[in-house]
Amino acid sequence: MEQERTEIQDLGEFGLIDYLTRNIEIQNASTVLGVGDDAAVIDHFGKQTVISTDMLVEGIHFDLMYTPLKHLGYKSVVVNLSDIYAMNATPTQITVSIAFSNRFSLEALNEFYEGVYAACEKYGVDLIGGDTSNSQKGFIISVTAIGEVTPDQFVKRSTAEKGDLLCVTGDLGAAYLGLTLLEREKKIYLESPGVKPDLENQTYIIGRQLKPEARKDIIEFLQQEDIKPSAMMDVSDGLSSEILHIAKQSNLGVVLYEEKIPIAQESREIAMKFGLDPTACALSGGEDYELLFTMKQADYDKIVLNEQISVIGYMTEITEGAHILTKGGNKFKLVAQGWNAFQQ
Ligand code: ADP
Ligand code: MG
Repeated sequence: MEQERTEIQDLGEFGLIDYLTRNIEIQNASTVLGVGDDAAVIDHFGKQTVISTDMLVEGIHFDLMYTPLKHLGYKSVVVNLSDIYAMNATPTQITVSIAFSNRFSLEALNEFYEGVYAACEKYGVDLIGGDTSNSQKGFIISVTAIGEVTPDQFVKRSTAEKGDLLCVTGDLGAAYLGLTLLEREKKIYLESPGVKPDLENQTYIIGRQLKPEARKDIIEFLQQEDIKPSAMMDVSDGLSSEILHIAKQSNLGVVLYEEKIPIAQESREIAMKFGLDPTACALSGGEDYELLFTMKQADYDKIVLNEQISVIGYMTEITEGAHILTKGGNKFKLVAQGWNAFQQ
C-alpha cells in the first residue's frame, strides 16, 4: 500500500505549526500561556526553575535508516527530561524546534510528533512552543525542557562528600549494545539487501537504544524516602566519564567496584556474542539515561530494598584518585574512555 504524502509547502509554516499543535491540552498549572503567541508564559509559584536544552542532528545523533520517527520524537523529549530529573527537579514544559529538508512530508513530521506527544503524556509535561525551519539536508531537532524544584533542593554534580555512597539506577550498557546491533544489521543490509535482519530476541537492547525512558520514578522514590542526593547527574555518555565528572567537580577521589555495576543478562549475552566486554560497554557505552548519584551512608537502609538502585562504590579523598576494583581483585585507574581496557 502506498503511504499518503502531503507536501509541507501545501500547508505553509503556520498551517504546519497549527496542525502539529492542534490537540495540545495543558496539564500543568504553571503553564500560563502555551503555543500561539510570541512567547510562552510559565509561573512556578515560588519554586525554582530548571532549564536544559539538547540538539539532535541526523547523521550525528541518529540514523533514520533504523530509527522510526515516532521513537525519535519520544527519545528527543526523554533525553531532555532526563537532564531535568538529574537536577532533582520535575519537568513541566518543553519546547521543540525542528529543521527539515523537503524530503520530509507532513505524514513524517506527524509521526515524529506522535512520539513527542506520547512522551509529554507519559511524563506529564506541556509542549509550549518551538520553532520550525527548513534545512538543506537532514533533520535537526532541538528540545528545551523546563522544570520546577522546591527552592534550593536542586542537586549539582559538584557537592558529593568524602565517604558518600556512589549509586546508579537500572542497568547499563544495553543502549550501546542495541546501537551496535542496529549498526551491524544496517551494514549487512547495505551489503546484501535480501538478508532479513536478525533482531529477534534482542528487543531489550534495541528498546534501550531506540526508546529510552527517564527516571521519573527514582526522583519520586528519593523524595518519598526523604533522601536528597549529595550530587547527581544522568548517565548519557557512559558510566566512567560520568563518575569522573562527579569526582572532579566535587574535588574527590572515588572507588568503583566492577562486580557491583548493574548489567542486564540480555546485555551480557549479546556482548559475549559480539566479543565485547560487558563491563566496558557499561563504562563507555552511553545513552543509558540512568541516574548516577551520591548519598550519605546513613541513607543506605532506605534504598537497600529498591532493586532499581545499585550501590557501586564510594567517594574518597582526592589524593586517592579514581579507581575501579575488578572482579579479579586488580585495581586500575578509572579513565573516561574505558575501551582499550584499563590503564594502570
Ligand atoms: P515567531 O515568528 O515569533 O518565531 P512562530 O511563527 O515561529 O513565531 O511560532 C508561532 C507559535 O508556534 C509560537 O508559539 C511557537 O512557539 C510555536 N511553534 C513554532 N514551531 C513549533 C514547533 N515545531 N512545535 C511546537 N510549537 C511551535
Ligand atoms: Mg519562529
